[in-house]
Amino acid sequence: MSSQGLLGIIWHDRYLEISFSHPMIRDLSKRRIREFIELARQRLQFLEIRPEPATEEDLLRIHAREYVTKLKEVSKLPYVGFLDEGDTVHYPGIFEDVLLVLGATKTALKYSEFLDYVYNPLGGFHHATYGRALGFCPVNDVAFGALELLRRGAKVAIVDVDAHHGNGLVDYLYDKPVLKINVFAYDGRFFPGTGKPEERGIGEGKGFNYNVGLPLGSGDDAFEVALSLLQKVEEFDPTHIIVVAGVDGHKDDELKSLNLTCNSYNLLGLKVARLSRVTGAKVIGYGGGGYGRMSAECMVAFLEGLKGIRNRTEIPTETGKEIMDKVKGLVERFSKGLI
Ligand SMILES: [Zn+2]
Repeated sequence: MSSQGLLGIIWHDRYLEISFSHPMIRDLSKRRIREFIELARQRLQFLEIRPEPATEEDLLRIHAREYVTKLKEVSKLPYVGFLDEGDTVHYPGIFEDVLLVLGATKTALKYSEFLDYVYNPLGGFHHATYGRALGFCPVNDVAFGALELLRRGAKVAIVDVDAHHGNGLVDYLYDKPVLKINVFAYDGRFFPGTGKPEERGIGEGKGFNYNVGLPLGSGDDAFEVALSLLQKVEEFDPTHIIVVAGVDGHKDDELKSLNLTCNSYNLLGLKVARLSRVTGAKVIGYGGGGYGRMSAECMVAFLEGLKGIRNRTEIPTETGKEIMDKVKGLVERFSKGLI
C-alpha cells in the first residue's frame, strides 16, 4: 500500500438533512456536513459510496429491545422532542435515519475489504449505550462495527480523538481485547464526565483501554504528545483501525473544549496512514463531533493526512507549561505501564 492509499467516502444526499443534535446546534451540524462534502469533492480523490440502510435486526444486535421500540414509536410522532434528558433529539422519521446511519458502517466494512481507508462523515456516535441515547447519539454505530469485526475474527484497534470521551463505545468494549486509545477533554465535569485514566479495562479487555484525558484548553503541542501513544497501535498490530476523528476539539468550536487547530487532525491522518502501512491494517474513519466554522476544514485535513498530504495552514497553538507537564506526565505513565 502506498501513502496515496485508496479512499472511499460514504455519502448519501439524505446526510444533508440528518442531525440528532440539540436544536441550538442542529444548523451547525448540518452546515458542517454540507461544507465537508463540497470541500472533499474539490480537494480529494475518492470513491463515493452509497450506504445501504441497516435492518431492525442489526439495531437489536447492539441496543436493547425496549430502546429500539421507543425509537420506532417516537419516529411516528409528528413533533420534535428529546430522546434523553435534553441533548439528543427525535423527529418524524428518525428511525429510518438511524437505520441509514447504522447501515453506513455495514457498507464501510464491506468496502474496506478492497479500499485502504473508508470514511463516514456522518458517523461516530460513540456516546449511545446499550439501553439509551446520549450526547446527540441515538445509535452506537462505532460499537456495531467493532463488534462485527470481532465476530469475524479481526483484531481491532480504536483511536477516538473526539473532544468528548466515548463513554458508550468504551462500555461496549471494556471487556473485549480491542485496543482503545481515547484522547479527549477531561476535567471530571466536562461532558460526559467519564474517562478516568485508571480505567484500563476488565477481563479479556484488561490493559487495553487508554483514557488520555487532556485538560481543557490543551493545544496542538499537547495533542501531539498524546498521539505518541499511537505507538501502542503499532505494537498491537491490528487488522483494522477504527478512528473516531471528531473535530470538536478545534479552538473555534462552539462547544469549547480543547484549543486545537486543523493541523492536529492532519497530523492524526498522517500518523494513522503510517500505522496502516506498517501493520497492513484497514482504516475505517468517522466524522464524530464538530460544531464550528472550521469543522469541515478539519475533517478534510484529516483525510488529506490519510492520503499523505501535509496540510498545516493554521498557526499552531501552544499549551502553557503547567498543562503540558500534566499531559506529558500522564502519557509517560501510560508508556511505562505505571497506570
Ligand atoms: Zn464530541
